[in-house]
Amino acid sequence: MIDVHVHPFEKWTPARIVKYLDDVGVDKAWLLAYDDKDRPESLIQTWKVFKAYKAHPDRFIPFCSVDPRRLNAPEKVRKWAEKGCRGYGEHKVRLKIDDPRSKAIYKLCGELGLPVLIHIDVPFPPKYDYWINVDVKRLEPLLAEFPDTIFIGHGPGWWREISADADTDPARYPSGKVVKGGLLDRILSEYPNVYGDLSAGSGLNALRRDPEFAKEFLVRNRKKLLYGTDSFDTMLLDFLRGLNLPKDVLEDILHNNAASILPP
Ligand SMILES: [Zn+2]
Repeated sequence: MIDVHVHPFEKWTPARIVKYLDDVGVDKAWLLAYDDKDRPESLIQTWKVFKAYKAHPDRFIPFCSVDPRRLNAPEKVRKWAEKGCRGYGEHKVRLKIDDPRSKAIYKLCGELGLPVLIHIDVPFPPKYDYWINVDVKRLEPLLAEFPDTIFIGHGPGWWREISADADTDPARYPSGKVVKGGLLDRILSEYPNVYGDLSAGSGLNALRRDPEFAKEFLVRNRKKLLYGTDSFDTMLLDFLRGLNLPKDVLEDILHNNAASILPP
């Protein structure tokens, strides 16, 4: 099993994370950094991720995160890739998702073979805090413009698009039955370079709101969905196991898809 969304948060030492992975039965974790100039208090520095990777190279796959607004950001990403970082993320900044500074990094990541794991939030109030990589509507042209770059969607602005009524439902975490024909189904089937990261409350909410639809969605997009937690618990795993999915579908989502993007 591979968990594609783990952060070495303050109290989570590398050894403690490894113990958690062992307890759940996870072989490898993508270890994500987080760099945002606007939130110096909540950064997860890439050096910290890299140090954890060096201590447990058989368990962690390290990602680098460099805020695209930093000086020479693409050069910094290139340096981390040369050191051994294998992905870019979590990319979570208050920019438009297609800001030229971010696009320079997407392009570089395509050249270097680094998947881009991107938090997409909602473009609307009530809280300016949520104005992150807005918005999902601007993602599709990027998928076409950077066909060599793998984009992995994550977060409320991404997962609410499971339902075709997302444009008229202003909730960050919508509830109730999913309306078929949502943006996610379409772009996941149309573009080979986009995947969905099921981690966090946003992924679980999108599935839980309509378990019947969720099962069909997971089967239909079995090659494009990735198991991740972001939270050191087994809520998503328990939910997925409770759906009685075909064994090979579950294996794709829990392991094979992540392993095909970044061979362990
Ligand atoms: Zn995260």
